[in-house]
Amino acid sequence: MTTTVKSRIRKNDEVIVIAGRDRGARGKVIRVSRNDGTVLVSKVNMVKRHTRQTEQSSGGIIEKEAPFAISNVQFFCSKCNTGVRLGVKNLDDGSKVRTCRKCGEVLDS
Ligand SMILES: [Zn+2]
Repeated sequence: MTTTVKSRIRKNDEVIVIAGRDRGARGKVIRVSRNDGTVLVSKVNMVKRHTRQTEQSSGGIIEKEAPFAISNVQFFCSKCNTGVRLGVKNLDDGSKVRTCRKCGEVLDS
């Protein structure tokens, strides 16, 4: 069963974590996986991975981002200085832009 997640969050968005272990953390979206409803956010939900020693590296423990539920993040509006819900506005030329539902700021240029 696949559930397509309706989220307006996109790659390179600044988001804030609203639930889970890293609640309150902010970061940039690295990847959105709509099929499984997860996001990968820079410096959020870091997990330690053990790497084997190779000729290129000495091995050991590296920290890496792990994907987590997209519902745990909100778009971070720099004007509101908080996580907000996104709205969509239709422009005269037929294109759509995302807006902050709180302050009305257009977030896409
Ligand atoms: Zn706002």
